Amino acid sequence: QPVNVPELLQDVVERFALQSRQENIELQLDFPAHDLPPVKADRDNIIQVLDNLISNAMKYSNENTKVMIQACEVGEKYVRIDIMDEGMGIRKRDLTRIFERFYRVDKARSRSMGGTGLGLSIARQIVLAHGGTIEIDSEWQKGTRVSFTLPVYEEMKNES
Ligand code: ATP
Ligand code: MG
Repeated sequence: QPVNVPELLQDVVERFALQSRQENIELQLDFPAHDLPPVKADRDNIIQVLDNLISNAMKYSNENTKVMIQACEVGEKYVRIDIMDEGMGIRKRDLTRIFERFYRVDKARSRSMGGTGLGLSIARQIVLAHGGTIEIDSEWQKGTRVSFTLPVYEEMKNES
């Protein structure tokens, strides 16, 4: 159950290597070389979250841009993972509804891009089920950042 975040991120980014090359979107990983504690999580579930978020970041970005994936510790109890893109962004008025099931910005545009509008709501559900939080911040025509946290894995300590 303890999941090593840097290792997980590397694995997930490798899955996108081909798409990244084809679409000419650079995937950049950034995390502290050491001192990042393991998180308490189901590895496959978190892979699904990252798959969703990185797919979005790439889907809603143009060529020759960068997607940055960062991990850091917040306090001593959580690890935060940020996925940042330089894509089309999301208007303020859509931002509050973005985690709803089937919600997609601009139906016509979204239809041509494929998808169901479930990715973010599933990601949110998984993160909340792990006791984490998820937020999205975006600037129209500039880019988007999705941040989520996962609790640090604590070994059971037995006193005596
Ligand atoms: P699915 O993930 O089911 O294939 P989807 O990507 O449309 O479809 P979500 O991942 O839930 O669905 O995202 C909902 C909507 O939020 C998207 O349709 C898109 O308009 C917007 N969105 C999500 N991520 C980004 C992003 N990184 N940049 C710009 N818009 C985004
Ligand atoms: Mg999606």
